[in-house]
Amino acid sequence: MKIKNKVALITGSSRGIGKAIALRLAMEGANIAINYLKNREKAEKVAMEARKYGVEAKIYQADVSNYQQVEEMVRKIVEDFNTIHILVNNAGIIPQHYSIFDIPLEEWEKILAVNLTGVFNCTKAVVPVMIKNREGKIINISSVAGKMGGTVGPHYAASKAGIIGMTFSLAQELLKYNITVNAIAPGPIETEMVQSISEERRKIILSRVPMGRFGKTEEVAEAVIFLIKCDYVTGEVIDINGGYYMD
Ligand code: NAD
Repeated sequence: MKIKNKVALITGSSRGIGKAIALRLAMEGANIAINYLKNREKAEKVAMEARKYGVEAKIYQADVSNYQQVEEMVRKIVEDFNTIHILVNNAGIIPQHYSIFDIPLEEWEKILAVNLTGVFNCTKAVVPVMIKNREGKIINISSVAGKMGGTVGPHYAASKAGIIGMTFSLAQELLKYNITVNAIAPGPIETEMVQSISEERRKIILSRVPMGRFGKTEEVAEAVIFLIKCDYVTGEVIDINGGYYMD
């Protein structure tokens, strides 16, 4: 799919990986719908930066774990931009507890609600819009944790593995509408999410990366661009992880 003049919704794009994806899409000429949860100011800054590329960019508040809010957001985006061609399910959170012995049930439920149900909600709300266009690109941000488990808890890993299962399934179901569905499984990427992890755990994480460094948000954004431009790829999970699986 050609990106220029298309409309892209990127969830959780006021900072981190989502911000890098939004700006990269803007650089390629896409009009941008920036979803944010709380930080309106940061979201507005991303929109202003995106507009420098000569595209339209607007911000939309919604909690992806709440279907009503997602539906309302999608309705407003379609009102403003007429349609949506690209959905990047990026919004996600990391847990506070990492061990099965410490994880409260509410934390398990919260992680699943945002990271997994959030992807379901946004996809469910956007797919009918894409079907009208008879084309669409859905990119889900999973994690290395979804393929190999990880250092931030079984609930996070389960949510990210769930995204991969959903990606395979939706790729099959939506193929006939000319909608591709792929996932990206980043290893540790330098964002505020990772900065919030204790220094000790950051060291453990880094020790597992053969390349010996955190990835850059732009390196994830690059894969998103590939998955939009290359129409022959669907149901794929791209690892962006500095060789994490090699040790
Ligand atoms: P981040 O915390 O910097 O950004 C996440 C964004 O999601 C934030 O803007 C946040 O406000 C938003 N968000 C959280 N809950 C939301 C909700 N309920 N509704 C709407 N938005 C919500 O994190 P990041 O590192 O940029 O992570 C982006 C995605 O990449 C996440 O899904 C994360 O799990 C995944 N990921 C990150 C890494 C990493 O090392 N940083 C590695 C693998 C996967």
